[in-house]
Amino acid sequence: MGTIAENIKMIEDEKAEACRRVGRDPSEVLLCAVTKTHPAEMINEAIEAGVTDIGENKVQEILDKYDHVNKVRWHMIGHLQTNKVKYIIDKVCMIHSVDSLHLAKEIDRRAEQHGITMDILIEVNTAQDEHKFGVAPEDTEALIKQILEECPSVRIRGLMTIAPYREDPEDVRPYFRRTKQLYDELAEKIDSPHLDFKYLSMGMSNDRVIAEEEGSTIVRVGSAIFGARDYSKH
Ligand SMILES: *Cc1c(COP(=O)(O)O)cnc(C)c1O
Repeated sequence: MGTIAENIKMIEDEKAEACRRVGRDPSEVLLCAVTKTHPAEMINEAIEAGVTDIGENKVQEILDKYDHVNKVRWHMIGHLQTNKVKYIIDKVCMIHSVDSLHLAKEIDRRAEQHGITMDILIEVNTAQDEHKFGVAPEDTEALIKQILEECPSVRIRGLMTIAPYREDPEDVRPYFRRTKQLYDELAEKIDSPHLDFKYLSMGMSNDRVIAEEEGSTIVRVGSAIFGARDYSKH
């Protein structure tokens, strides 16, 4: 591992290469630095090195760090309990992990109270039985249509997926490819002022290059920037 700045440069260089291989413009892919378990000082170091977007998977961590981190866009990327939406509604720019109408309705209600429209992504469980959160691919269209009908203060910006961990990231390529296909289909098929697909959030430290080759527009990268996480402190 290098310094945080060196790691970010390596990630950006590898992204540029991956994009070049498949004829994409590297500026289409946003690096969302995943800062869970890491202190505000390390996050500020990443921001100094050029990071504009950070991702957290726990509401409490956003609240603990929010006032100590320099100006940056915050993304909620982890499973979100309905009763915690109110704490982050005015702090995050996007919620990546919406997988039920129930959650979307609470986000909608809180967004309306704040007079904002919240950008959300639908989390798709592309690998079906591998992890528990996310909507099944075949149920995604129906969920989006329900949200569009019932949640005027949210705007659906795309899809998010978490691939199962594989030693060889090449093995998750089919999941990313399928998610990109679904993304394109839905973008083509559904027409609504509250749906504006721009983000396909897929790829983490281990599999980001494969995701970039397969059309990701947001990679969520933690350990490749900040090193291994020490959960014993939490
Ligand atoms: C922790 C986390 C990441 C980043 O994982 P790394 O393997 O450390 O890059 C990405 N997405 C989600 C939803 C996470 O919880």
